Amino acid sequence: MSFSGKVAVVTGSTSGIGHAIAEALAGEGARVVINSFSDTEADRAIADRLAKAHGVEARYIPADMSKPEQCRALVERTAAEFGSIDILVNNAGIQHVSPIEDFPTDKWDAIIAINLSSNFHTTAAVIPGMKAKGWGRIVNIASAHGLRASPNKSAYVAAKHGVVGLTKTAALELAGSGVTANAVCPGFVLTPLVETQIQDRMKEHEGMDREELVRDVILEKQPSKQFATVEQIAGSVMFLCSAAADQITGTTISVDGGWTAA
Ligand code: NAD
Repeated sequence: MSFSGKVAVVTGSTSGIGHAIAEALAGEGARVVINSFSDTEADRAIADRLAKAHGVEARYIPADMSKPEQCRALVERTAAEFGSIDILVNNAGIQHVSPIEDFPTDKWDAIIAINLSSNFHTTAAVIPGMKAKGWGRIVNIASAHGLRASPNKSAYVAAKHGVVGLTKTAALELAGSGVTANAVCPGFVLTPLVETQIQDRMKEHEGMDREELVRDVILEKQPSKQFATVEQIAGSVMFLCSAAADQITGTTISVDGGWTAA
């Protein structure tokens, strides 16, 4: 699997799953754009490290995925600096846990904007270039929560179900163009996003040790009782970008230890 010369943009790629996807793509020769909303030396250092480690061009481009114009600007700036975009991975995402009646409106708005609407804006912006080239890959990082609900995660569940719907619609609109659109649906993956949930749950379940809490509370719905790894999520993205997946479009790949089998 070589992506030598292909240009890939991964939103929210300074941490966790997005970082692993960018690393995997760079490892196969892709030129990668690392993104987050901040603009620091540490952000640029992530791109520099990937470039050095894999002998590819890697650049950090800041853009806040809660802002429609910045989503589109990320695509436009990448196309201007790299010539075109072959692979778009919509990965940026946040979480907030609260019952609906107490769910803060600003958190709802932020989750819908970052986890769902950004996917629409970046996808809209990459489509003309990918169609013109007759090749492209759009991979959206949805979630098991794109297929199933859990209490207290209304915005996240709504956004991720929306991502799956957007993915299917894009696939139908792009069918036959050489551009595919698919979603990867991870179960629980141990990243900073989930570490926050573990810390919050430990406060609620005083007396439970971490191992017990992870098995019985966090991984309650994940039958394997094991976290998926960021590398395993990246592996599914790599497969969807490969020639073997040319005819796979408008679907989801679950990497969830059996969660959605039930
Ligand atoms: P993470 O917190 O480790 O990383 C999130 C990344 O998104 C970071 O680089 C962060 O800087 C970036 N980001 C946050 N807000 C942003 C904004 N406004 N603009 C641009 N970038 C922004 O989280 P993660 O666990 O790696 O999650 C990545 C994706 O995977 C998310 O979409 C998440 O919903 C999804 N996911 C995660 C899990 C899990 O268990 N960790 C499970 C299913 C789906």
